[in-house]
Amino acid sequence: MEFRDLKKQYQVLKPEMDAAIGQVLESTGFIGGRPVTELEAELAEYVGVKHCITCGNGTDALTLALMAWGIGEGDAVFVPDFTFFSSAETVSYEGATPVFTDILAYTFNMDPDSLERAVQAVLAEGKLTPKAVVTVDLFGLPADYEKIRKIADRYGMYILEDAAQGFGGNIHGKRAGSFGDIATTSFFPAKPLGCYGDGGAVFTDNDDWAELIRSLRIHGKGTDKYDNVRIGMNSRLDTLQAAVLQVKLKAFREYELEDTDRIASEYAKGLAGCVDTPRIPEGYGSGWAQYSILLKDEEERRAVQEYLKAQGVPTNIYYPRGMHQQTAFAGCGTYGETFPVTEDICRRVLALPLSPYLAKEDQEKVIRLIREKTGADI
Ligand SMILES: *Cc1c(COP(=O)(O)O)cnc(C)c1O
Repeated sequence: MEFRDLKKQYQVLKPEMDAAIGQVLESTGFIGGRPVTELEAELAEYVGVKHCITCGNGTDALTLALMAWGIGEGDAVFVPDFTFFSSAETVSYEGATPVFTDILAYTFNMDPDSLERAVQAVLAEGKLTPKAVVTVDLFGLPADYEKIRKIADRYGMYILEDAAQGFGGNIHGKRAGSFGDIATTSFFPAKPLGCYGDGGAVFTDNDDWAELIRSLRIHGKGTDKYDNVRIGMNSRLDTLQAAVLQVKLKAFREYELEDTDRIASEYAKGLAGCVDTPRIPEGYGSGWAQYSILLKDEEERRAVQEYLKAQGVPTNIYYPRGMHQQTAFAGCGTYGETFPVTEDICRRVLALPLSPYLAKEDQEKVIRLIREKTGADI
């Protein structure tokens, strides 16, 4: 069984995929060109924003957004403690200070109350200027934008939506990637919409930031490539990846997300009463980057994970530790915040196999094994 079945996906998409890749090879145009500009328009339309700027990966996308806002030394950027390293790494990389917040137990997303306390602690200390909040749409579920937007507005902060996992998620039909002042995503192969290598994108409605980011991603270009007006980077989505993504976006829109959503509800039904399953708030939809359950404690998680592994079922732990527990952030202050929810969830969380191509009998096997091992009635 595959954790995320990219092999089956390729078999299903093969005729279209091989043709799309073949066309790029025939054209020998490997950087830029029609697939890239078409994809950017398709992504902007799907997400519901004015501009999509593709780039090299989801980490660069976050960096480009921070660069566009001129965030650097002396600035505080608030990041949920429970996320992938990039969400905070990019803040430090730009010379700013990541300040961590705890998360909510059942959405796995930023706790707005913890955010408010952390902002006030930073202001009280008086050394850093609160500049932005990196909201992460973790495991596919959009963060609580209603509450976070109010806090961001109150303190004059931007929202940078890290939708690396959120692509396809929505709140009342408004799609992930449209909630931040700038939003970013990743096309790493295992993400909800993945390419065949590295890729990423930035989304925004703001014309000036879009123009700036288009320049920053190609060596700070001015009117042409050899007119360099600022220091930028080299971060392009190459043409082959754009062609791959055009084929995958079509499948994602037409049936993949719907199928994944159905498989997720089968898990919720099948595992009810034996483990905690993801709770999707009223009016929210997940892009289902992961299907993460919560076991009773670390011991039960180890037992279940080993039991599944012995029967050929792969699982993963996202994430084994919070940002404040990362060696690289050992020197970061915690501004009086503690992270009890993150620390608890790191010990109990387990991600199950999930993809639109997960076979019914495979899913039934996963459910049966978990019920057996947790002692629930079968
Ligand atoms: C994957 C991921 C990233 C980074 O994306 P890359 O394309 O691997 O650089 C950033 N944030 C989150 C939450 C992610 O899951």
